[in-house]
This record gives sequence, C-alpha cells and structure tokens, in this order.
Amino acid sequence: MIALNQTVAGLYIDGAWQHGPQLLAVTNPSNEQPLAQVAGGDAQAVERAALAAQQAFAGWSSTSGAQRAEVLRSIARGVEARRERLIELQSSNNGKPLGEAGMDVDDVIATFDYYAGLAEVAGLDVDVALPTDDFVARVRREPCGVVGLIVPWNFPMVTTAWKLAPALAAGCCVVLKPSEVTPLAELELAAIIAEAGLPNGVFNLVCGTGLAVGAPIASDPRIAKVSFTGSNAVGVQVMQRAAETVKGVSLELGGKSALLVLESADLALAVELACAGGFFNAGQMCSATSRVLIAEALYEDFVTLLKQRVAEIRVGDPFTGEWDMGPLVNQAQYQRVLAHIEQGVHVGAQLLLGGQRPVGQPCGYFVEPTVFTEVPLDSALWREEIFGPVLCLRRVADEAEALRLANDSEFGLVASVVGQDLQAAQRVANGLQAGLVWINAPQVIFPQTAWGGYKQSSLGRELGPWGLSAFQEIKHVVRAV
Ligand code: NAD
Repeated sequence: MIALNQTVAGLYIDGAWQHGPQLLAVTNPSNEQPLAQVAGGDAQAVERAALAAQQAFAGWSSTSGAQRAEVLRSIARGVEARRERLIELQSSNNGKPLGEAGMDVDDVIATFDYYAGLAEVAGLDVDVALPTDDFVARVRREPCGVVGLIVPWNFPMVTTAWKLAPALAAGCCVVLKPSEVTPLAELELAAIIAEAGLPNGVFNLVCGTGLAVGAPIASDPRIAKVSFTGSNAVGVQVMQRAAETVKGVSLELGGKSALLVLESADLALAVELACAGGFFNAGQMCSATSRVLIAEALYEDFVTLLKQRVAEIRVGDPFTGEWDMGPLVNQAQYQRVLAHIEQGVHVGAQLLLGGQRPVGQPCGYFVEPTVFTEVPLDSALWREEIFGPVLCLRRVADEAEALRLANDSEFGLVASVVGQDLQAAQRVANGLQAGLVWINAPQVIFPQTAWGGYKQSSLGRELGPWGLSAFQEIKHVVRAV
C-alpha cells in the first residue's frame, strides 16, 4: 500500500519497485497541500520496462484464456478489497467528491471482471467459410505484443482499466504511464496487481512527465502499439512519434459534446442531465455535454429551473463535508478555465451564473458552476474543450437546427438527447455524429458498450469486444486439404 507524505517509488519494472531519478510533487487540489513525492522515471526506465515486457511476452502470450481470466478476476477482487483506500486516493489527488470516486472504483472492478470473461474466448480459432473444398481457413486472434498505455488525470484509474484489462486479456505485456498530476491511484492499483499472480515483466509502471516518459514510450521500437488518452495536441505528437516505427495507435482525445433538449422533453430531467453533463467531475470530462441546445418553446422555463438547480450545487473539499462538486485538478487547469470564462465575457457571451471562485473557499482550485448564454458560435467558449464546470446554453428553432449545431464541431465523442417523443429522440440520435448517444439517461457507461467518438475525438474504440480487438493481431492459417 502506498504511503502518503513520503517519497514513493514511481517505477514497477520486472516485478520490482524502484525509485526513479525524476521527483514529481503530487498535491491535493482541495487545499493545495503536498500529498507525496513520486520518484518517477526517464527514457532509461522506459527502456528497461519495455525490455522486461518483451522478455515476458513469450510466456504470457502463450497462457490460456482461463489463466488470464483468473489473474484479471484476482485484480478485480483486490480492487474490491481496497475500495475505501482507492476512493480516498482518487478524492485527495483529484478532488473528486467521495461518491464520484466510488463510481470510478466500481467501474474499474466491472471492467476487469468483464475482460476476464472475454479472455476465456479471446484467442479461440474460428473457421472461415471458403468458396472451395480444396482449402480450409482458420482465423486466430493473437496478442499484438508489448503495448504502451498513456493516460490522463481526469479519471486516472478508469482510463487505465479500460486499456490494461483488455491488453492483459489479449495476452499483451504492458508499460503503463499514469498522469504525473494524479499517479496515486495507479500506484495503489499497481500494488494490487503485484499481488495478483502475474509473472514478472507482464505489467510495468513508469511514472513521469510526458516528455521524460510518455515520448520515449511512443518511440520505443520494442513497443508494438500505443494506446493514448489525453489532449488532442499530445495525441498528435504521440501519433507522429509512433509513425517512426509504424506502431499501432489508439487515441481517446477531446470533446465538445452537445445535450439536445427536444420540445417533448421532461424539463426537470433535462435540467438534471444538463447539470450532470456539465458539472460531474467539475466538468473535467472528455464527454462533458457543455453545449446545451434547447427547443425554443422550453427555453425560458429551462433557464428558470436551471438557475434554481445550480444554486443548490454545493462546492467544496470532499473530506470536509457533503459536497456535490470538488475543485479543478491543479493550478494550471484552474487558470486555464478562468481564462476561458474571461475570454467568453470579452467576446460578448452573457454570463448567466457563476464564473468565480465560490464564496467560502479561500484556497483550493474551486470554480463555481458556470453558465453562459448568447455565446458566439465562432468563439473558443463554444468551439473548444474548456475542461471545467462551464455550460453554454442556446435556443434552437427546430430539430434540424439542433442537429446542425450539435454536429458543427471538430469533435464527435458523445451526445445526450432528452425528449419523451421517443421516435423523435431516436431520429435525432441517428443524425448525431457521435460515438455514444444517451436518450433520457445520465452518462452511464457499461464495459459491454463501446467508448470512443467520431472525427477528432478518437481513433479506434475502447471497451466491449472492440477494446479487446485493439490489442490483437489477426492471423489466418490457410491449409490445402
Ligand atoms: P495531456 O494530453 O496533457 O496528457 C495525457 C497524458 O499524456 C499524460 O500522462 C501526459 O503526461 C502524457 N504526455 C504529455 N506529453 C506527452 C508527449 N509529448 N508524449 C507522450 N505522452 C505525453 O492530457 P491531460 O491534460 O492529462 O487530460 C485532459 C485531456 O484528456 C482532455 O483533452 C480530455 O478530453 C482528454 N480525455 C479524453 C478521454 C476520452 O476517452 N476521449 C478521456 C479522458 C480524458
């Protein structure tokens, strides 16, 4: 179990914990106090981790699906057993309310259990029908090799589980790099994995910054594939580096998603979903539905109800009371979000609610739930990912305008539709350029359904059988009869 207020080993390579040369200061965003120092790695550590993974690959890739499933289930049970500790680490390192941190842990458990089930059928050979009796063909799915997993800070353990569980299920060996901002939950997860019965070298963890550790992972010739979640700017750099050794690349990037409130919507539900889509995790969600498109007939009532609902949202340190929303993750993100708000006001958007540090929160990176109207369609506020608790409202004349505006984005991760006319809601869902659409539902995510989006939001899909295929090669064996 990792200890706080100390210098913690930031490398787990070939089955051994080690201190690396790069000291990372990890802080609590609710009170700006240090939590721990993590002794992270550099390019040499990545090289050692990739080598250990390469050496372990022959053994792990030839295990049976049942053996892999056993390890994955053992990780899930380990996470279950340390649920409270993981919640504490997620909340103290990210500032998440305890309830939200609990959802993260439950998601991790469900993901490892789900891929344990898929591991049992992962590599099975399947006959392929041919137009002749002279040959038989079988298709076989094999692990793609050593994989590099790079994750961000907003749902650190969850984004890790969505990559790690299918990679191990496929039979791949792994080099994982958590975000340097929030490595604590992954360090605890690594401690759980260390006890789960994996052979040395199958799972390796290298904490560190993007340049010191992430970039070498993207370049390393031993690594066959990189699965990256993070910003578009870094995703492009990862892809460019990976191109030098023709690596496979999966990317989960940004979003600027829409929530569409149709004329038939239940208003209370629409307001509830708008708040959840904008303010869960303090809005630091790639899937934030930060553009809310409301049918003209409902607009005024929606705004009245939203004002009442937002006034009820309590913002504060998860460990000092019952809060609905925590702080932003660090000083840089805090300043970035406030700059976006200021810029929005500057270009003429109307600040309806929030936009400040909440009264009564003298320290910590807290920002009030913020709502804008009359946002210019060419402004950064409308078009760019803010990654903070900021909603933009807009009235729309009809379904066609709602769809046109929703799809007018370089992103296409998710969307939400609210309407009691289910035919209309389904029609709108069909017209949305997004990888996942919720109708009258919160942002529920099941390991069985795919995660990823259209356009510049993603390359590939995570979760479900698609998440597993991302770590597999296809081999056909064709034999003369
Ligand atoms: P980021 O791109 O700054 O960092 C992500 C990871 O990449 C971190 O581990 C970082 O250290 C590493 N990194 C930084 N520079 C690198 C480089 N040159 N080479 C290799 N790795 C490097 O993103 P962030 O600020 O940590 O997270 C926020 C972003 O993540 C948002 O844009 C959000 O939309 C996105 N995100 C997307 C999804 C999704 O599923 N689509 C999920 C969560 C977050």
